[in-house]
Amino acid sequence: MFIAPRVADAKDWITTETGDWEIILGLEVHAQVASNSKLFSGAATEYGAEPNSQVSLVDAGMPGMLPVVNEFCLEQAVKTGIGLNAQINLFSRFDRKNYFYVDLPQGYQISQFEFPIVGEGEIDIVPIDADGKVGEQVSVGIERLHLEQDAGKSIHDLSPDETYVDLNRSGVCLMEIVSKPDMRSPDEASAYVEKLRGIVRALGTCDGDMEKGNLRADVNVSVRRPGGELGTRCEIKNVNSMRFIRQAINYEARRQIEIIESGNEVDQETRLFDSVKGETRTMRSKEDAHDYRYFPDPDLLPIKLEQSFVDRIRSEMPEMPDARKARFMEAYGLSEYDARLLSGDIDMSNFYETLAKGRDAKIAANWMLGDFAGALNKGGIELTDSPVDADALGGLIDRISDDTISGKIAKGVFEKMFESGDSADTIIERDGLKQVTDTGAIEKIVDEVIAANSDQAAKVADNPRLIGFFVGQVMKASGGKANPKAVNEILKAKLGL
Ligand code: MN
Repeated sequence: MFIAPRVADAKDWITTETGDWEIILGLEVHAQVASNSKLFSGAATEYGAEPNSQVSLVDAGMPGMLPVVNEFCLEQAVKTGIGLNAQINLFSRFDRKNYFYVDLPQGYQISQFEFPIVGEGEIDIVPIDADGKVGEQVSVGIERLHLEQDAGKSIHDLSPDETYVDLNRSGVCLMEIVSKPDMRSPDEASAYVEKLRGIVRALGTCDGDMEKGNLRADVNVSVRRPGGELGTRCEIKNVNSMRFIRQAINYEARRQIEIIESGNEVDQETRLFDSVKGETRTMRSKEDAHDYRYFPDPDLLPIKLEQSFVDRIRSEMPEMPDARKARFMEAYGLSEYDARLLSGDIDMSNFYETLAKGRDAKIAANWMLGDFAGALNKGGIELTDSPVDADALGGLIDRISDDTISGKIAKGVFEKMFESGDSADTIIERDGLKQVTDTGAIEKIVDEVIAANSDQAAKVADNPRLIGFFVGQVMKASGGKANPKAVNEILKAKLGL
């Protein structure tokens, strides 16, 4: 039985004519273990292979097949459990969860029910709202992590009257990570998934690629009066992006409130999120555990781990996102906000550390979170596919630091780098963007600008802020290439300031 003592911040309440409501959220995240072979067979798990080309007799549910546990998958589950600050259970067991589906050839899923490999744990999250405002830290309890097989995939849109089945995914190892109902807003749910993703990616136990479906969330939503009795929950299945998680929760909470307010009861059911319509709709009425008639899988012995096995994994744990964030704040002098953005994901962190090495760490952070992140976002490009790598971006920052170009010109150079993949030096050289530091050349432009604006020049003595106008004119006349510091000095001298 779940209890949910924490009451949401009032800012997260939904207020209607009948009063305030709070949203209670618990998540079940399925994270695909980054393993080359499946949980109980040697078949490959590569993404995007020809349909039904990675299917062993075990995965196809042939009579008499015998599953064999992939020890690598056990190790990944233990590693993830440690990353979730959770209890590692030395004794665990595989059970059969019986149900019929065309893409489940065994007629049951091998999962863990009574004795999961990982027990209770806890992670800290910090929600960020749509305006980028950082909220209070929230601890989210982990109920368990268990291992189970994935099902195959039914394809309904290849033929008008037939369903095709691809069993490549059948038997792939999943870690189902179940949270306690400790989240109270879409921001918190999204921060939780982001944190989980950061942890499994830091550990290398799951690729965390939501688009490829190797990290997907089932979101349990219910509503109640703030601090009141828990309502009936609905589970929204397989939501596969942060944005959809937020949308699905917002829609579902309001749907439930409307039902209750109109005097009806929320049915406990499993729902699907339609990302095109932004709605959830009924998939099936919710089964309870007893509907699945779980029982120990007679083909598999219980798992008994040695403490030394767990200790060895614990001793080899890499740096986790929280520790990395603290280190980034300390070592690079970053703000909490920047440190969080740069430390959450392992690829981001590695990129940043390469960029910051031997350079001004704050300038490096500003470039990475500013123009660089903007360009990736705009193009929908993954960091790992970026046409500008950390060394190349660093090369651009170096040209600003050594006064070859101004920060303003650098923005244009960066755009060209991103388009062409050329280095900063190549573009600066080719387009003649080198800053003019030759004072003689600048003086000449300054003289021309003062001559062309003699009435303004006469007013400068009374109104020194007019110098800004002259700086602008000189920079414009130089095509942005004049060294701004030199321009300022020469102008001041010539205008008698
Ligand atoms: Mn599951």
